[in-house]
Amino acid sequence: MSEVQTLASRAQIKPKILIVDDDAAMLSSLSLLLKANGHSVESAQGGAQAIARLQASDYDLMLLDLQMPGVGGHEVLMHIRDNKIDTKVIVVSGETSFVMVKDALLEGAYDFVRKPYDAGELLTTINNGLQSRILEQQHKAMGLALEESEKLHRYIVNNSPDIVYVLDSKGHFTFINERIEALLGYRHEDLIGKHFSVLIHEEDLAEANYVFHERRTGARASKDVELRLKINDETKTSRSFETHLLPITLHSMGMYNPQGLNGQNEFIGTYGCARDITDRKRHEELINYQAYHDLLTSLPNRALFEDRINLAIAHARRYKENLAVMYLDVDRFKLVNDSMGHAVGDKLLQIVAERISRCLRADDTLARFGGDEFTLLLPQIKTNEDAGAVATKILDSLRVPIQIDHQEIFISASIGVAMYPHSGETMGTLVKSADIAMYHVKSNGKDGFRFFCDEMNDLYTSHLAEERDLHRALEHKQFAVFFQPKVNPLTCQLVGMEALIRWFHPEKGLVMPDAFIPLAEQSKLIVPIGDWVFRATCEEICRWRKQGLPKIKVSINISAIQIEQEDFVQKIVNTLAEFKLSGDYIEIEITEYGLMKNRENAIQKLLRLSAHGVTIAIDDFGTGYSSLSYLHKLPVNTIKIDRSFVKDIEPGIKKTCIVDAIAAMAKGLKLHMVAEGVETVAQLTYLKNLGCVEVQGFLFGKPQSAQATLELMTMQSDGKLAACLAC
Ligand code: C2E
Ligand code: CA
Ligand code: CA
Repeated sequence: MSEVQTLASRAQIKPKILIVDDDAAMLSSLSLLLKANGHSVESAQGGAQAIARLQASDYDLMLLDLQMPGVGGHEVLMHIRDNKIDTKVIVVSGETSFVMVKDALLEGAYDFVRKPYDAGELLTTINNGLQSRILEQQHKAMGLALEESEKLHRYIVNNSPDIVYVLDSKGHFTFINERIEALLGYRHEDLIGKHFSVLIHEEDLAEANYVFHERRTGARASKDVELRLKINDETKTSRSFETHLLPITLHSMGMYNPQGLNGQNEFIGTYGCARDITDRKRHEELINYQAYHDLLTSLPNRALFEDRINLAIAHARRYKENLAVMYLDVDRFKLVNDSMGHAVGDKLLQIVAERISRCLRADDTLARFGGDEFTLLLPQIKTNEDAGAVATKILDSLRVPIQIDHQEIFISASIGVAMYPHSGETMGTLVKSADIAMYHVKSNGKDGFRFFCDEMNDLYTSHLAEERDLHRALEHKQFAVFFQPKVNPLTCQLVGMEALIRWFHPEKGLVMPDAFIPLAEQSKLIVPIGDWVFRATCEEICRWRKQGLPKIKVSINISAIQIEQEDFVQKIVNTLAEFKLSGDYIEIEITEYGLMKNRENAIQKLLRLSAHGVTIAIDDFGTGYSSLSYLHKLPVNTIKIDRSFVKDIEPGIKKTCIVDAIAAMAKGLKLHMVAEGVETVAQLTYLKNLGCVEVQGFLFGKPQSAQATLELMTMQSDGKLAACLAC
């Protein structure tokens, strides 16, 4: 039980009185009188007994005879004083000398009653004594309670995670909690009496003046004001006087004395608290950093580059200066990435970034635009020669072999340069011009730089730009393979799929193959694109196999350009082996044109492929060079009637005779006949009657994403191909 509680509870119970006298008759008469008046009484005959009682028990009040043989009243008083015994003593004595009474009072007696006593006077004196004792005890209890509460509040304030302070009306600290020591390194006593401005970062003083002199209270007072406080570095290292800053948010309020001058509310200062927001600031900074930087290389990203280039253009315009923008693409980066893995690719990009940076000045900006593409802004360039010198320096530094994981990697780069204002006056045109110039380097043997010139902007260029787009699509994984079901018209069973490429262009959205395959063929980009389609298809087949789906053949479209490639057959064979697939999973579709282009060479390659189990179909049959004579020389298994003929199939119309003729020929050559573009039940019935073994068309389903195809096949394996309801 705490002291406060003891005192409080003692005040509730009946006070205990001890009567001390050597005279037994006196003891009993006093005892009777007090008991009769409702007091709780004990008695001690003589001083020695009194002391013994006092040692054994607590008394609220004591009636003490002064003159006793042996231990007298004065000795008892001395004992009480020396032992700090908490009791009220009323001296009851025949002693009348003033000196004796004075001594007794000096020795701690509360009052004096003369013997023979007057009962009324004695009782009043006792009551007064007890009353006074109760008041004293209550006062003491209150004092202790206040002390505890003050201790608690001090504890709370000092252990607050925030700085808590009070300022006088002139802005000087009158209180500041101990938190300031941990956060800022000042001793809190040292700040008392100092003006708040000693803690404020110079740039924040104006705002601080405003909030630290806050006169408002309640909801209108200052909240969440951000300021920077100075850290006292002296306390950390005695040699360093460097001042760091602590960001805080501040809440402050005016303080008023309601009993001020003329009974008015008088402004006496402000109080408030300041919270350390270092962590929040750090997070904000990080988020900001991430929004404006490429995390792999820590270089500025496109957003920050655009910001900087806009500023640089504004500056160059005002001062009639030049500036250079460069677009840099690492040559054959994809090859490194694909053959050595992404970890090596990432490391390579970091090294490239570092090497380029070392060729630049402090004012220049190097940014990564994604993939292996970097852009540079050189604001201090005066002439083309200066820009050329920087480009040469960068190219030289990149040609030095790069060592990663004990492997030496040789790279080079292609750089396009656009000068302001000659090659463009806006951010967009400058970057685009540099990009076009870079692509000219790429298509002219790479490893070099070129300045943009107007001639690059002609028709040829627009092709180049598109080609560049295609290139980028490949690097940035913008392609996807879709699949369209092939169905047996007699059983309605799913018997195959045709793989068809799709391009998800970041600006144009979905681009269909007819819009980009011709250019891909013209630029020979169809070779890497075709390789990608082949691999992506193999990956899907493996996925189906893992899911335990029935084996079906997938048709892949192959362009004539691909067949012309020296390693055409080998690449297919290698890829199949890599995915552990046998050749009979695949059928390749080649157009008549594709076959005729380099006929002898094509025949040889197709024979080799077919020896690996890959079957061959002639696509868009009937549209091209239908020189039937070569068909029997080829390892062709299937002809696909072009959809323009299928479209013409209408009940009772003669035109369908082309389809009839193709059907008769296929039968004669013992080739499978497949029809594509089947959209109606009438077409389906007609083709079925002609002996078509496979049909494909919107009637059975449009080409769909790999995921949708997987779901469709899972359903089909349960015998639920909804499309076949049409059959
Ligand atoms: P294709 O080889 O003749 O492919 C059939 C085209 O007909 C596909 O167009 C398909 O969506 C469409 N089609 C299928 N059923 C119907 C139908 O019932 N009605 C109509 N109106 N159209 C139907 P898509 O996917 O736009 O492909 C166009 C062409 O692009 C393909 O013609 C093919 O020559 C080429 N292509 C597609 N993917 C590749 C590829 O990976 N490599 C190569 N080299 N060429 C591809
Ligand atoms: Ca096809
Ligand atoms: Ca076709």
